[in-house]
Amino acid sequence: MGEVMTSVDARRYFATDSSIFNLPPALVVYPRNENDVRKTLRFSWQLAERNRAIPITARGSGTDQSGAALGSGIMLVFPAHMNRIVEFDNKSGLVTIEPGLNYGKLQQTLETHGRFLPPYPSSLEYSTIGGAIANNASGEKSVKYGDTRSFVKGLRVVLANGEVIETYRLSKRELNKKLGLATFEGEVYRAIDTLLEEKKDVVEHSRLLVTRNSAGYDVADMKQKDGSFDLTPLFVGSQGTLGIVTEAVLETETYNPETTLLVANFDELQHAQAAILALRELPETPSAIEMVDGNLLAQVERINPNLLKDIVEKPLPKLVLLVEFDNTKEHQQKKLAKKAAKIFEKYASSHREETEREKQEQLWKIREASATLVGHTDGQARAVPVIEDGIVPIDKFAEYLTGIYTLFERAHLSVAVWGHAGDANLHLQPFLDLSQVGGRQMAFRLMEEYYKLVISLGGSTTGAHGDGRLRAPYLSQLYGAEIYDVFKKLKQIFDPYNTLNPGVKMNVSIDDIKPLMRHEYSLEHLYDHMPRS
Ligand SMILES: Cc1cc2nc3c(=O)[nH]c(=O)nc-3n(C[C@H](O)[C@H](O)[C@H](O)COP(=O)(O)OP(=O)(O)OC[C@H]3O[C@@H](n4cnc5c(N)ncnc54)[C@H](O)[C@@H]3O)c2cc1C
Repeated sequence: MGEVMTSVDARRYFATDSSIFNLPPALVVYPRNENDVRKTLRFSWQLAERNRAIPITARGSGTDQSGAALGSGIMLVFPAHMNRIVEFDNKSGLVTIEPGLNYGKLQQTLETHGRFLPPYPSSLEYSTIGGAIANNASGEKSVKYGDTRSFVKGLRVVLANGEVIETYRLSKRELNKKLGLATFEGEVYRAIDTLLEEKKDVVEHSRLLVTRNSAGYDVADMKQKDGSFDLTPLFVGSQGTLGIVTEAVLETETYNPETTLLVANFDELQHAQAAILALRELPETPSAIEMVDGNLLAQVERINPNLLKDIVEKPLPKLVLLVEFDNTKEHQQKKLAKKAAKIFEKYASSHREETEREKQEQLWKIREASATLVGHTDGQARAVPVIEDGIVPIDKFAEYLTGIYTLFERAHLSVAVWGHAGDANLHLQPFLDLSQVGGRQMAFRLMEEYYKLVISLGGSTTGAHGDGRLRAPYLSQLYGAEIYDVFKKLKQIFDPYNTLNPGVKMNVSIDDIKPLMRHEYSLEHLYDHMPRS
């Protein structure tokens, strides 16, 4: 068995992730292998059978901003030992990994083989693949390549009772075999098959009209018309609430560092929206359509006047788009860039194109300036992640931004917005002092109004970061009672004793999360508490 810790220090350290919550675990386990995970879950199940449930929370690097990497019971910490690349097949591009593997390390290894994993989050250097799978993470490249779910081909998962299963797309015949098993796995397949059959109409209408989504459970992609069945898409994005992942097989893509970057300035939000919609209609979607707004540029200029000097034009535009093409054929890339330039001639106030890597790096600083803002402190106030990841249908992009500006104006707070414009998945973090009652109350007021706005526009409360504890109270509002009920039944099937990350995703109210709120917020101590393997 790997190390087990109950020290006050360890428990205090794992009481926070990158969210606004605080919840110390009872003990911390660093599993050495799948058998350790299996034994821990079996132990928890047996206690639960005797009415003494102890929850299990899996943890990667704890960069989760929704409070999903916190739990009051056993914390299973993966990066210490279960952090290997198990296999890489250069021919098929498939890579098999353990969940505690650092995402940045995997990316580096893949790149040396001319491959990469496109849906990487911007936190890749500090986070694990297991966390990305559990959150269905996505990032700047997802506009072209899709989210994590699109890249996970199979999983090894430890179920609540300690049984290990392998998931991949099963043919109808293979499914029938599973349905006949006398194990918990068999029970799970039978119950889900029945649920999907009974709630066919509800499940078919459970997809939100957004291009990426980490809210709820992906119930719509398990069963396909040909009768095939796969639990993999369900586990991706489930935040450790249905089972614990011990291994994953992922697809990768060809990596091309030779790209074309276009930067366009806009004075009108409607014009920016028209350009985004036109860019998405190109024969090939750009590999990135990122944005920052003028407020972000102005705030960053105040904090660090040198950072964007000579990079951004004056007067500051209302919005800047950064658009990249990565087609491996140079002439194709050129052609696409030319078409994009035409779009900008029509809608943007100015634009420029860059193919030289060093100059591109300078321009990317515009987008990366958001990190300066997030790391900034204003007295006791800090940028806090409470409304940081909403997404809406792309044709609502301008309305979404206008709604955000109105909301902040009403609250007499300054606002800055950045993110994945090509998916209308925007990031923002209000500056609040959580040590003050007023700051904490404001956080909840903003959440209430912001999530109402996102839902009213037909969007999702989270494009990538997950529901966790933070957004779980809005899940039934987002999906409606019928779909929420399917989620509830699903959770009950996998986790009858509610031992898998309880308080995350399902059955959570605002009153449940209020007492967990931190009275300070910082990420300072996060990355330095791993035992050496
Ligand atoms: C500055 C910053 C920027 C970010 N940018 C992005 C971004 O661009 N895109 C994005 O999607 N996210 C982003 N995030 C959120 C987060 O970093 C990512 O979702 C990341 O993938 C989480 O990985 P982690 O290793 O830190 O997971 P953790 O925070 O440790 O855990 C995340 C979730 O995964 C579960 N989990 C971990 N391991 C397992 C396992 N083996 N089995 C089952 N469940 C498991 C946990 O229980 C938890 O629910 C950002 C966060 C920060 C702080």
